[in-house]
Amino acid sequence: MGKTAVFLDRDDTLIENVPYLGDPEKVTLLPGVSSAIAELHRSKLPLIVISNQSGVGRGLITKEEVRSVDARMEELLGGDKLFTHYGHCYAAPGDPYDDRRKPSPKMLQEAAVAFDIDLKKSFMVGNRWSDIQAGNAAGCKTILLNLRVPPEELERSVQIASFTARDWSSAKDWILEQSEKMK
Ligand SMILES: [Mg+2]
Repeated sequence: MGKTAVFLDRDDTLIENVPYLGDPEKVTLLPGVSSAIAELHRSKLPLIVISNQSGVGRGLITKEEVRSVDARMEELLGGDKLFTHYGHCYAAPGDPYDDRRKPSPKMLQEAAVAFDIDLKKSFMVGNRWSDIQAGNAAGCKTILLNLRVPPEELERSVQIASFTARDWSSAKDWILEQSEKMK
């Protein structure tokens, strides 16, 4: 039987969004992320980052720079190996393979096959409508983290999310509560 996992958007969900970020010095965690991720990690739920990084496809940053940002984020979160996998889509819109970009559920589906995950018992957390679309299309429960939702996307995102969390603590509590119920 497949595992329950938590899929996480990166920019403006785990760290502050700096467009096309390639500089690890500019990585800043969002409030409450550290303790929420630590608790989810302790609960043994695989944590998987699902992120569109079109800056690579646009030629603005390299994959190595994306990885250095990921590494800095893990360092700030207090350790490595917190995340089971990073699903990054490097394509820019219009590139070959841009069909993996969120709102497509493809990156979640790929991770589900690779890590034996049951998408119906899993969660997607994000700050954008496209995160919620991707999670819903994959069959996951979806959490809109309402810290940095673009104002023009708020209403339609709230409407389709399984849950809207005002902060990381309530997102984490909801995930743990729901995953308990599904056991
Ligand atoms: Mg985001």
